[in-house]
This record gives sequence, C-alpha cells and structure tokens, in this order.
Amino acid sequence: MKGAQAADFFAYNAETISEWLSPMHTWVLNRSVKPREGQSLISRFRRPMLTFTEDGAGGVHDMMLAACDQFRYEQYGHEGHHPSCAENLHIAMRREGYEIDVVPQPINFFTNTFIDADSALSSPPNPVLPGAYVELEALMDLICVVSSCPFDLAIPDWLINSEGGVTELIVEVKD
Ligand SMILES: [Zn+2]
Repeated sequence: MKGAQAADFFAYNAETISEWLSPMHTWVLNRSVKPREGQSLISRFRRPMLTFTEDGAGGVHDMMLAACDQFRYEQYGHEGHHPSCAENLHIAMRREGYEIDVVPQPINFFTNTFIDADSALSSPPNPVLPGAYVELEALMDLICVVSSCPFDLAIPDWLINSEGGVTELIVEVKD
C-alpha cells in the first residue's frame, strides 16, 4: 500500500454467505474493539473464520465504523453519486453471483480511530506508512472482499485517508 489508505475488509463463509465475519462478536471474544496480531476473528455464529497472523501496520485498525455508503456522503453534503465501500461490496458480491441485502460491519484495516476517556470517537490523521500490511490466515473457505475506501471529503478531524487522495491496495492470496 502507498500509506494512509483505509481497507474495509469483509469475509463470508463460501458455502453459506449468511455466515459473515462479525467485528461485534469478535470484540467480545478478544475483549478488544481493535483487532490485534494473534487474535481469532469470528463470524456472527461465533465460529473462527480467520486468524490475524501478522500486523505490519502498528495496530492502526478499526472495527467500529460502518462501511461508507452513498447516504453518508450525502450527509456530509456531497451531491450526486459517490463511490463507497458499501457499493464496492455489492458489486464484488454480484460478480460472485450474490445479491446481498445486508452490508456487514467491516474490519477497517489501516484506519485510525481513537476513543477518549469520555468515549468520544475521533479519527486523527492516518499515520499508516507506505508498505504497511496485514496478513490473515483463513480457517474455512471464504469469500473475502477488500474495498480501498473512497472517502475523500475534507471533514475537520475526520481524516480517514491521506490528504493526498485515495490510493490502491494490493491483495495477495497465498496457498
Ligand atoms: Zn469506505
């Protein structure tokens, strides 16, 4: 990656896509609202789907922000169509033959969120460096979708991606 680029990550059981990766269930298992190296990532049926085997991004990840969608961009004042992670997921799943009804909560790798002592949520400037990576091991046959988040609006204190714009991500699948 080129740095400071959020990656919305979704995973489905390839045999039944009604079973998807669930950050909320994973919070409880690991007692953490952020994914950490070595942790198990589970489905909404609480079955292990992946292991977070290597974190090459210094822990800068999020499991709380819903995927961006057209309506979020409109709430921010954008007029007209805007690409979004929700749309990217719909298109990717359509290519696999599935028309999905629900956009699951993603794991937002390379996304800098912070919760203060009063539980206020902020997204300080994204510090993820070029070349950062994460490595995951699949524990069942999965359909995985990665969306390079197209968030590019100038919102004060909400810098999801680099100020320089949205960049591509590289996905490698190993046996
Ligand atoms: Zn997004």
